[in-house]
Amino acid sequence: MGKLKNLEDLFHHHLKDVYSAEKQLIKALPKMIKNSSNKDLKKAFEEHLEETKEHKKRLDEIGKELGIEMTGETCEAMKGLIKEAEEFIKENPDLDVKDAGIIADAQRVEHYEISAYGTLVTYAKGVGNKDAAKKLQKTLDEESAADKKLTKLAKKSINPTAKSA
Ligand code: ZN
Ligand code: FE
Ligand code: FE
Repeated sequence: MGKLKNLEDLFHHHLKDVYSAEKQLIKALPKMIKNSSNKDLKKAFEEHLEETKEHKKRLDEIGKELGIEMTGETCEAMKGLIKEAEEFIKENPDLDVKDAGIIADAQRVEHYEISAYGTLVTYAKGVGNKDAAKKLQKTLDEESAADKKLTKLAKKSINPTAKSA
């Protein structure tokens, strides 16, 4: 990417970064589904995988609208977060502990995305792109809802089960 000159360039730069993040997550979530034991947790991940595919699709639409190529960047932060999750799984913890740990790793991912999309909504509004702002806000709301659902699952059943195991 060439020299970033204005808010619009920065907007495009962050769009490409989160595009890479979503693509990585689409690949990683099936592994998290496979490695979680709690039925509700599996379901929550399955639902979020479908949402994540939508998130990527929305970014594709925005890229098309803006006439920019979304590929070519790697989100190193997401790469690192996924790597930590994979390394945790490799440690082969007890199943209940594994579920609790996978939730923690997934929530770090969601928080990263919430931060990214929050910025993107602000940038979209800043450059006067209402349509993109609307799409990005929709994704932001879904990331927040996914995060809240995971918090609820962790507090209600998964952490207490890990504690008593
Ligand atoms: Zn997403
Ligand atoms: Fe990133
Ligand atoms: Fe997400």
